[in-house]
Amino acid sequence: MHNAIRKDKFEISELRGLPSGYYILRKQGSYLQSRGLLETLTITDIPLHAESSSLTFFHPEAMKFFECGDIAFVSPKGVLRVVLSKLANHNTLLVTERCDNLCLFCSQPPKDNDDSWLLSQAAMAAIEFDSNESLGISGGEPLIYGQSFIKFLDTLIDYKCDKSLHILSNGRKFSDTKFTLELAKRRKDIDLTFGIPLYSSVPHIHDMLVGSIGAFRDTMQGLINAGNAGIKIELRIIPTKENIDTLSQTVELVSRSISNVVQFSIMNMEATGWARKNWKQLYIDPIKYAEELEKSVLVAHSAGLPAFLFNYPLCHIKAELEPLALKSISDWKNFYPEECSDCSKKYQCSGFFTSSKGIFHEAPRRIV
Ligand code: SF4
Repeated sequence: MHNAIRKDKFEISELRGLPSGYYILRKQGSYLQSRGLLETLTITDIPLHAESSSLTFFHPEAMKFFECGDIAFVSPKGVLRVVLSKLANHNTLLVTERCDNLCLFCSQPPKDNDDSWLLSQAAMAAIEFDSNESLGISGGEPLIYGQSFIKFLDTLIDYKCDKSLHILSNGRKFSDTKFTLELAKRRKDIDLTFGIPLYSSVPHIHDMLVGSIGAFRDTMQGLINAGNAGIKIELRIIPTKENIDTLSQTVELVSRSISNVVQFSIMNMEATGWARKNWKQLYIDPIKYAEELEKSVLVAHSAGLPAFLFNYPLCHIKAELEPLALKSISDWKNFYPEECSDCSKKYQCSGFFTSSKGIFHEAPRRIV
């Protein structure tokens, strides 16, 4: 779906009185089957009369952008965001905004409020969302509340929620061996993969990039524990000016010392959140590390592990690596500048993030 914009955020001032959290969405006039674990919000595009039901809200165009049974998050400011949708090609559920790292390129800068209530609400949202597709779990740091995350998994298991989960975590909590073994017991009942970043094999570089001294030690210990406990790991790396010289070394370190790594994901930085203010310090044009990128992929392959590239326009990498560049940018987050219009690779290429428009944009090098 090229250049399609799927709106997911709607301001409805009347929502301000509602408790913030997850809700099931229904279109007025449609039948909705739910387990009743979350409240249902009915949206209509016909202006309301005074006697309308209290959980029915008017918005002139929102109904075009969701399906009945999708899940929305309502903020205290009355903003409704459709977070789980049958119209999306991938869905991710936020379970906390707190984090014990402060990554220089964090796309969703953490907040320090106690939001432990969100995990139990997120469990209800995952159960209510009628789809068998894999579900992304993100934060903040999803494991920050420790035992509450295990409870979150147990709730899904109790309700026989058979979605596989892909959880983005900084892996630090897995340095607690007891916690890791406890969580690993759930693997027989629910399919889990953890996407964990290790940004460098050099401790102080990793610690600097994630804004926390001691993070490398915890994450390495966590990766060892999680791998040894049989937890599947997708190892993530974002190349930057600061860690590019250690990219292949990092892949080598992980390949040799961590069990149960199922994939390396090398991700081109996205210009959102704190990455925008640190762009000059961090962003490096992929053309400048083409050799190191290829070497890193070869190191992974020689260890028998797959490696994929995310968010790379095809014209920014070597032709040999093109088959590994996944079309990763969600349909509603990408754009193709004018130069792409007659590129022969356009339909294989995910183009650029909409967020990179302007000063963050590296021009395409069109392939004819
Ligand atoms: S010119 Fe555009 S469509 Fe072609 S490879 Fe580059 S970014 Fe992709």
